[in-house]
Amino acid sequence: MSDVPDQYGVVGHPVAHSWSPFIHGMFAKETRQSITYRLYDILPDDFRARVLAFFAAGGRGLNITLPHKIAAVQVANELTPRAARARAVNTLAAQAGGHLLGDNTDGAGLVNDLCHNLGVVITHRRILMIGAGGAARGALVPLLSLEPAELVIANRTAERARALAQDFQDLGAVSGVSFRELAASPFDLIINATSASLSGEVPDVPAGVIGHESVCYDMAYGKSDTAFIRWAVGLKCGSALQGWGMLVEQAAESFRVWRGIRPPTAPVLTALKEHAARL
Ligand code: NDP
Repeated sequence: MSDVPDQYGVVGHPVAHSWSPFIHGMFAKETRQSITYRLYDILPDDFRARVLAFFAAGGRGLNITLPHKIAAVQVANELTPRAARARAVNTLAAQAGGHLLGDNTDGAGLVNDLCHNLGVVITHRRILMIGAGGAARGALVPLLSLEPAELVIANRTAERARALAQDFQDLGAVSGVSFRELAASPFDLIINATSASLSGEVPDVPAGVIGHESVCYDMAYGKSDTAFIRWAVGLKCGSALQGWGMLVEQAAESFRVWRGIRPPTAPVLTALKEHAARL
């Protein structure tokens, strides 16, 4: 057996801010796996050639982040059903015969965090998904498989919400609306899947969608509370949570795809939050 660690990494642009080396480094220690995990800042024009070169040189797996998740679909030789449905790949894994498997672990990461770490119930509950981009699309299969009473997608550009809902009609009670069309009645779970928090903004949805028992979840995360979390807390929601757990859980799912072992996530989540708070 070779002593050379198996090579993994994350490809993005920019990517210097990524927590993935920290997370996968801890997973490797906890599971006693010998791996290296590096950052690869790659421009869109170079994406395909550089990724293929990484695997041709013996690399075992890559995480794919913005802006390459859609381009990665074309690099994979085979997609998992969840990646095909998401039309986006965040995990590439080397397979026998030089084939590349494309997977999408974002949605599983979200649902694992909500259901297992935070004890949120989805089944028979009313869910509002704000945003209709890649992260929202990736979350729909695992959310709808838990049979919520309804899942409403609201987006700034309403046509995108309607088109997304149309694509998933076969999986349950899902509809797409504009922010204005949202009735001001509280949802059980509100997921902010927009990138508004990254620019300190809050999606312009009616405050009435948040009730005193609503769970509010921002896929975005930061050292301090995001704008959405501050807004939800100001409206006296039941609880408000940032997407740190989703980040760690999607990484654990990628690690499982690559290594066949699911690492424990609680110690990594604690360490990550402590580390981020010290910055
Ligand atoms: P996309 O670029 O694919 O989609 C962006 C979405 O945000 C669109 O629906 C867009 O609406 C909406 N939007 C952007 N700005 C505003 C605004 N000011 N007001 C209202 N809506 C707005 O991004 P992703 O889907 O890839 O990512 C969404 C979020 O999820 C990001 O914050 C990202 O960091 C986070 N994320 C977190 C992960 C985790 O592990 N925690 C994993 C993946 C993503 P429109 O269609 O009208 O432009």
